[in-house]
Amino acid sequence: MSGNKAIQKVWIEEGCISCSLCMDIAPDVFEVPDGEDCRIRPCASQHFARRDADIRLAAEDCPVEVIAFEERDDS
Ligand code: SF4
Repeated sequence: MSGNKAIQKVWIEEGCISCSLCMDIAPDVFEVPDGEDCRIRPCASQHFARRDADIRLAAEDCPVEVIAFEERDDS
């Protein structure tokens, strides 16, 4: 059983070191252009449901912990 609520928003806070780990985990959500910080792809939100576990894993494994996400508030 998973107590997770659905992810509705993902963003990158300051401090990304462009390691590309998140893009390796969920390439349809994260993109790391050459020489730039990671960003969320423009159409990423349509993949949030399918990539829920991957987004959480990327946020957990990001070496500088700059991946943030917001879950839907069902209350
Ligand atoms: S895993 Fe973290 S540090 Fe690495 S590219 Fe993604 S956001 Fe940046």
